[in-house]
Amino acid sequence: MSEAISIAVVGSGYVGLVAAVCFAEMGHDVICVDNDERKVAALQGGDTLIHENYLPELLERYRNTKVRFTTDLAEATRECEAIFIAVGTPQSETGDADLSYVEAVACEIARSLTSYKVIVEKSTVPVYTNEWIRRAIERNGVARELFDVVSNPEFLREGTAVVDFLHPDRIVVGADSERAAALLNGIYAPLTTGEYYTRPSHIEGVCNVATPPPLLNTSTKSAEIIKHASNAFLAVKISFINAVSNLCEATDANVEQVARGIGLDSRIGPKFLRPGIGYGGSCFPKDVAAFRSVAEQLGIDFGMLSEVEKINASQKKRFLAKVRSALWTLRGKRLAVLGLAFKGETDDIRESPAIDLVEMLIGEGCTVAAYDPAAIKRTEQELPAGAQLRYATDAFDAANDADALLVLTDWAEFAAIDLDKLYATLRYPIVIDGRNLFDPSVMQEHGFTYLSVGRPSVG
Ligand code: NAD
Repeated sequence: MSEAISIAVVGSGYVGLVAAVCFAEMGHDVICVDNDERKVAALQGGDTLIHENYLPELLERYRNTKVRFTTDLAEATRECEAIFIAVGTPQSETGDADLSYVEAVACEIARSLTSYKVIVEKSTVPVYTNEWIRRAIERNGVARELFDVVSNPEFLREGTAVVDFLHPDRIVVGADSERAAALLNGIYAPLTTGEYYTRPSHIEGVCNVATPPPLLNTSTKSAEIIKHASNAFLAVKISFINAVSNLCEATDANVEQVARGIGLDSRIGPKFLRPGIGYGGSCFPKDVAAFRSVAEQLGIDFGMLSEVEKINASQKKRFLAKVRSALWTLRGKRLAVLGLAFKGETDDIRESPAIDLVEMLIGEGCTVAAYDPAAIKRTEQELPAGAQLRYATDAFDAANDADALLVLTDWAEFAAIDLDKLYATLRYPIVIDGRNLFDPSVMQEHGFTYLSVGRPSVG
């Protein structure tokens, strides 16, 4: 059995909270810190506040025992060997990552640092952040030998975050000190030795058997670049297939066939070759912008990333044009919208292309009845219901008497919808699918006019 290590995780959002309960699941003792008192109280009471599969189960199992929640970072710093920083790094107006939350945490840690600690940047940050954290701590009067700063980027995906954390493709540890690298290697030992996978699972339905993930020890700067380059590359893949899907639409070819033909090449691979209404979320848009900005500041022309952003933005406009092409005029049309979250299985609406499209449709004079299994509460705060926008109780409530139904988020439950019932509920049986959830021939059999992305329309 690997040794239990005392860990503080600062920031209890999508990454911090998942990391905290998963570290506990791996056997460690965790203090999870957030400066939002309301959040801390909710977590202490067992409310995860975010929609994430398996998170409620793990929170229930470990809260107030192996995972304690507090607003007191000083106490957590004193008690723990490793302090993970998992606060937000949003995009600033210039496109750079806003690192003020990271800096604030680093300075607060410095003020209570009296014995050796390893400070781990888990937030996604630009190259050189590690050095800035070190400098900030030293400027607060802490001796260099009292701490190390390590980069341990996180690759989890919202919706599958818990499973991704416990079954990662790889773990990256960027450390310039052997002592710090050894501590991080120890923290992940339950996964990398395979020991965790031999224990009975606490998460129903998650396969225990797994090949232990490789742990890549790198320099701090390499680790920082690995995270930005990974997200940028994934964004490249999405924009590439979106551009190819536009070519398919112009030629009546089928992007699904094309993607399969491309993806079977083992050098390319089949994943992330699904076209749609563009990427969104709290990571890809800001990380692409931040990576481009880092390159610019270093005098490197990474114009390819600007092109990726341009293609991404144009996908939403193309989808709006598709809606218009199906409905002729938009003013006064009643539209059902399925999906508000930036992707399925999450309630996260940050940079959601679905919400951008709802706003565009309202701007065109449509009335929208929108449904999402988890994201309505968050969306209502940003986009209150009004004369042109209603939040529906389920997909059929949204579809009731609508002139067309738009699919904007790839929730599994939308793909499984009862098509006969949907046909009977809509005023006109028109489905415009921005996520390619349905098989066009099945939609045709059910009598729908069906438009999707990069595939010939039917009906
Ligand atoms: P989030 O907004 O959900 O959570 C951030 C948390 O930090 C909030 O609860 C906030 O209250 C807290 N916080 C802010 N300042 C604080 C302070 N001074 N002290 C204590 N707590 C503080 O953000 P997130 O989605 O979890 O992302 C965190 C980081 O992880 C970002 O850098 C992001 O890019 C990166 N990341 C996110 C994902 C993802 O899918 N969300 C995946 C990989 C990496």
